[in-house]
Amino acid sequence: MTTPAELRVRADELENRVPPATAGPRTDDERMWLEKAAALRTEADQQEEREWERTGLIPCSDCGTVVRTTTLETLPAHGCTARQRAARTTEK
Ligand SMILES: [Zn+2]
Repeated sequence: MTTPAELRVRADELENRVPPATAGPRTDDERMWLEKAAALRTEADQQEEREWERTGLIPCSDCGTVVRTTTLETLPAHGCTARQRAARTTEK
């Protein structure tokens, strides 16, 4: 079975094949890759949710830390905000 992480890697690969929107109109192939990438991400989320229903554990979609939670609305604090802020600063 493909793991959510592997699905997301594949989604990334597809998205990386598509030139930025500023490069001009997308071809049919490029639109298809983006749709496929979105579908792969949805599948990854669904797998993680099924896993969470079984185990109560889910990886944070922002930082990847696996946390134990009783609701998917809010995740328990795990230092995510700090890491996100750091990631955003390095990206720009
Ligand atoms: Zn997090």
